[in-house]
Amino acid sequence: MTKQAISLFSKNNLILLLIALLGLILFFGSPLRKKKYAQEGQFYEQVYLESLKYKLTENKKDSIREQRTYVTKSQPKNVIFMIGDGMGLTQISAAEIMAEDSMALERFRHIGLSKTKSTKLITDSAAGATAMSTGQKTHNGVIAMTKELKPLKTILEYAEEASWVTGIVTTSTVTHATPASFYGHQPTRAKVNRQLAAQFMEHDIEVLMGGGINYFNDRDDQRDLLEEARERGYFVTEDVEQIGEYVPSKLLCLISTGQPKRLDIRGNFLPLATNKAIEVLAKPKTNFFLMVEGAQIDWAGHANNSDYIIEEMFDFDKAVAHALDFAEKDGNTLVLVTADHETGGYAINGWDKEKEKLKTEFTTGYHTGTMVPVFAYGPGAESFAGIYENTEIFYKLKHLMGLGNFQ
Ligand SMILES: [Zn+2]
Repeated sequence: MTKQAISLFSKNNLILLLIALLGLILFFGSPLRKKKYAQEGQFYEQVYLESLKYKLTENKKDSIREQRTYVTKSQPKNVIFMIGDGMGLTQISAAEIMAEDSMALERFRHIGLSKTKSTKLITDSAAGATAMSTGQKTHNGVIAMTKELKPLKTILEYAEEASWVTGIVTTSTVTHATPASFYGHQPTRAKVNRQLAAQFMEHDIEVLMGGGINYFNDRDDQRDLLEEARERGYFVTEDVEQIGEYVPSKLLCLISTGQPKRLDIRGNFLPLATNKAIEVLAKPKTNFFLMVEGAQIDWAGHANNSDYIIEEMFDFDKAVAHALDFAEKDGNTLVLVTADHETGGYAINGWDKEKEKLKTEFTTGYHTGTMVPVFAYGPGAESFAGIYENTEIFYKLKHLMGLGNFQ
């Protein structure tokens, strides 16, 4: 063969080989890909099992986890943990666009992303709050219990045990899924408001503010939990403004029968309550842990109501401003702001010139599976940069607060 013939032969061979390869990829590639997606659910399930196993192991393994998630030596004296229920990036973006000044959320410098799934891809608020308050993924609807329905000690309960003073503030009833997941333990969130109120009374939580007074004083067991609270030293009121300058050592402020109303009725409750809670908790000069929830961002998302979302975001952001103002002055307080999940599949599609408002759309009346932001300020804030499971928030907090086995 001549030199030319050889090179022509190998070129043809090469082309044939490439065609054959392409055929193979097209033939086998797509079923393989399909199989991979089909296994993804299984994969997630496996991750949960692994992480559950992880937590059941001895302290030695926990300390490995600790090294992985903990990047700072500074310990906060106080922690203010704020949850915008249903607050995804679009909810924040919409408020940021509509705000006249910059938002308090823009003051944070350490920001991370939290993966929100429960044992289902789409979490509910009970499993979402339980992940953050106990470090375990559980079934939707379960309040601070494992998948096997065993009670789990919450970050607030660890804090109480270590003699921190503690508090809870929310714009929902105080027995709603998110606040309840910090002090209650129930296999289902449905129809257990009165049981949860009784479980609250088993604790010594210094501040409780929100709705649902009827779950305390209108009960089948004839107990009047408001009277019991008074006897135990709580200042009990139905109006946050009525407290005025007074700083009691314990405070029970229940502003409504059932759920609190929208902003036009409930007024400045959330920012005022956040301020008052901080005053009460900071008074004894010991460590404090406060959980604050902007609950109705979620309800606005369920209602697919963009105006309602923005209104609630502004209200929540005012509470965040108060927390940050205190933390800046105090110098020893960690402020953490995050969400349990996004609600509504909310999107901003442009600007409506006629209505002078955002053009928005929703993909669902329920929650979505998107990651949510985590904003951190203060000692230990660096630990919250990065992308991680929502359960990690518990471990990071527990470590930073020097609680439990990590001491
Ligand atoms: Zn929620």
